Amino acid sequence: MNAWLLGSGGWVPTVTRETTCVLIRDGEHALILDAGTGLQHAAAHLDGVTRIDLALTHFHLDHVFGLSYLPSLPVVPQIWAPGAWLYDRPSEELLGPFSPFVGTVGELRPHQRIGGFDLSARAQPLHWHPTAGLRVGDRLALITDTAYDPGSAPFARGVDHLLHEAWSLDGDPSPAEAARVARDAHARRLTLVHLHPHADEAALLAAAPGATLGRDGAEL
Ligand SMILES: [Zn+2]
Repeated sequence: MNAWLLGSGGWVPTVTRETTCVLIRDGEHALILDAGTGLQHAAAHLDGVTRIDLALTHFHLDHVFGLSYLPSLPVVPQIWAPGAWLYDRPSEELLGPFSPFVGTVGELRPHQRIGGFDLSARAQPLHWHPTAGLRVGDRLALITDTAYDPGSAPFARGVDHLLHEAWSLDGDPSPAEAARVARDAHARRLTLVHLHPHADEAALLAAAPGATLGRDGAEL
């Protein structure tokens, strides 16, 4: 299994950071987490893939705008989104503006087996709108668009690699809070993601010793 961070930024893309997108590949099957603008770089890793699934944490633009790039992929992905679960509305309806590019839309639930991927999701209520933390087996967890949440560490417990938002030094969440989640979860590695367009990178790293700063294109 290989994984790449295709978008390490939050809110808006910059010249160095696309918005949130993580690609995981296991043989001919790929699972994409979030469809930020980083999704435009996914095709480079998808030669020979016969199935693609794509799970969304929520519906804010920095996590769905990349759906516009779906026609560049070799296979039309099956989408999994938390509309019915967290918004009481069908995900297909919430993704309406992207309907020209989107194939089948399924409803994300707390647990699903997607081919060889074991995908878990946790409701995160501390953002403007509800979001879902995502976990792929024991390999990787993506926790973004949430303030510090004491439920995050139990959700990510024992995961190899935690990708956690570190929005600002002041919080919501801070890099120190991301490090706290990683420590409490006993995650082996922490990468800071969903970074502010004007993030002070040195200060972020100083506040989260041992963490890696997310970089677009990095193999995880
Ligand atoms: Zn976001």
